[in-house]
Amino acid sequence: MRNPRPVCPNPECVNHRNPPARFYRKNGYRRPKHNHQPIPRYQCRACGKNFCATQVKPIRQQHRPDLNARILELAVSGVSMRRMAVLLGCAQQTVQDKVEYLASEAKRLHQEHMENLWLADGTSHVMMDELETFIHARWAQVSVPVLLRAKTGEVLAFSIARRSSTMPKGQANGWTTDNRHKVIPKLLTNLQSYLKPGATITTDGDASYPKWIRRHLPGANHKAEHSPKKDPAAYDPLFQINHTHAKMRNDLARLSRKTWTTSKTIEGLRCHLWLWVAWTNKYPLR
Ligand SMILES: [Zn+2]
Repeated sequence: MRNPRPVCPNPECVNHRNPPARFYRKNGYRRPKHNHQPIPRYQCRACGKNFCATQVKPIRQQHRPDLNARILELAVSGVSMRRMAVLLGCAQQTVQDKVEYLASEAKRLHQEHMENLWLADGTSHVMMDELETFIHARWAQVSVPVLLRAKTGEVLAFSIARRSSTMPKGQANGWTTDNRHKVIPKLLTNLQSYLKPGATITTDGDASYPKWIRRHLPGANHKAEHSPKKDPAAYDPLFQINHTHAKMRNDLARLSRKTWTTSKTIEGLRCHLWLWVAWTNKYPLR
């Protein structure tokens, strides 16, 4: 059997760098506690260190890799972290660790996905809109700008911007930073290389969008549209993004509860959004 592990994991060993072929021998099996399925174990011929192929996989050092898929599903179905721990019979810390792990994997897969889009010459139509939400308390307002590919509805990019609070309590608590003017232009600049020449970007009528798009997406064709307010059957030029945002509101419903926002941070929200992107774009997270 071929060991996919290229070197001996022991840093002091001669086989830690550029080992010869067959520097190891087979040495029985290891049975992980979560499923008791045997995993082949190998031993370095020089130092005697035992190791397994799983140590180079993304799930290395996880005690419950079997929970990953369930946690992803539940996290994007409005289930709080606390409830997930109850449903799955694991510790809250396990849920927290796994959400962070899944978010980092989602980010990695998204980079691969965007690379493939770039190799395929990019897209000719994107939509952008912002979702208003908050961190832990209603006065701590943030905006989540999302860029979608209009044809497929896949998420191309998102970010989180702070908004100066419109509520007296927010002002009193010092939630007065507004960095939309930094966050959104950065998002647009990063999008540049994924657009076909003369691509269209559709947004709503926000007053700042025209100048940001002119400056940071030169050459793009900006269309400011309005969704029909009265007639629900009328054609909605922003359907794709409104639809996505409606789903997102549903999936992130638990954000308003203390249970999800135990971290109470923008980073916690960012992790959750990465999981949502992986779900929406159907990334094979494990
Ligand atoms: Zn060794």
